[in-house]
Amino acid sequence: MIEITAVQKSFGELKVLEDINLRIEDGDIYGLVGKSGAGKSTLLRCLNGLETYDSGSIRVNGTEVKELDKPGLRLFRKDIAMIFQHFPLMSRKTVYDNIAFPMRCWKYDKQQIDSRVRELAEIVGITDKLKMKPNVLSGGQKQRVAIARALSMKPQVLLSDESTSALDPGTTASILRLLRRINEELGITIIVVTHQMSVIRELCRNVSLLEKGRLVLSGPVNELFLSQPDALRRFMLEDDIPPDPRGEELQIMLTGDDNSQTILSRLARELQVSYSVAGGKIERYRDQQLGSLVLTFASEDISRVCAYLDAQGIVWHRYLPLDSGKLQEEEADA
Ligand code: ADP
Ligand code: MG
Repeated sequence: MIEITAVQKSFGELKVLEDINLRIEDGDIYGLVGKSGAGKSTLLRCLNGLETYDSGSIRVNGTEVKELDKPGLRLFRKDIAMIFQHFPLMSRKTVYDNIAFPMRCWKYDKQQIDSRVRELAEIVGITDKLKMKPNVLSGGQKQRVAIARALSMKPQVLLSDESTSALDPGTTASILRLLRRINEELGITIIVVTHQMSVIRELCRNVSLLEKGRLVLSGPVNELFLSQPDALRRFMLEDDIPPDPRGEELQIMLTGDDNSQTILSRLARELQVSYSVAGGKIERYRDQQLGSLVLTFASEDISRVCAYLDAQGIVWHRYLPLDSGKLQEEEADA
């Protein structure tokens, strides 16, 4: 288990992490999402001891990271591997030698290395590339090699810092599927740092949103989607729908069950109200389809509609424009 308590970190005058509190259970796939400069990479680097933190505590399976001495840190990092946006492979060495490199550093014997390299190549799907040099591989294949190398010491935790950000959408999807398989089949805890909400949706069970060094939200991804907190809406601003002046808008959350699939027709039939559709979307969250519809109702109908939705057990939100002051501040920062 990873327990982060009241962590603070500054670079000189610049406060980069403020009062971070976070708990990640073994076997989870946990997302850290936020805009560029929010402090995601710094937090990840504190976690594996590449950076120190000024105060607070980071415990990985009971070990306080900043109390580790050099040999302790070296051992610790065997258990906590990392992959990046750019795949720092050694260009003169073959794929095989790249994957074998950490095991050679730890003086594993030849046979052990050979069987482990082949096993890893199988897991990540590059068995036919072992004799090649990295420069002839595609971005996705290079990331697979980097993942195999990261797994070579049988880590308990894999940290991924924007590992799909340089890849096209199709390759991104295949790498995310691989990460999910690694989590499920090998039981490795994965922490995914990304600025892309789509990565969180596809892959993560739980997520925290970082805004300027502070954690503003944490929780299960599907629950946060259904409850639509402002901080999440602000982060996903491009998806936001402008308010419709002709009436009042409700956002109705769709969970894919029969009840939510038939709600619109029942609403119209049983309440005899009409509405217009202002926007909507349905997206995949790991194994679930979740969606929302923004509907405009006449103001005089709104309280009846809300009562009906409550009675039907449908999650809904009054769809109000986000606080414009906060938005301008966000835009000025971007
Ligand atoms: P993210 O990964 O969310 O984009 P980072 O953790 O890389 O954010 O950076 C957070 C802030 O800390 C940024 O303002 C960045 O410029 C600053 N920063 C990161 N690393 C250093 C460093 N080594 N020295 C000084 N400032 C840094
Ligand atoms: Mg970063």
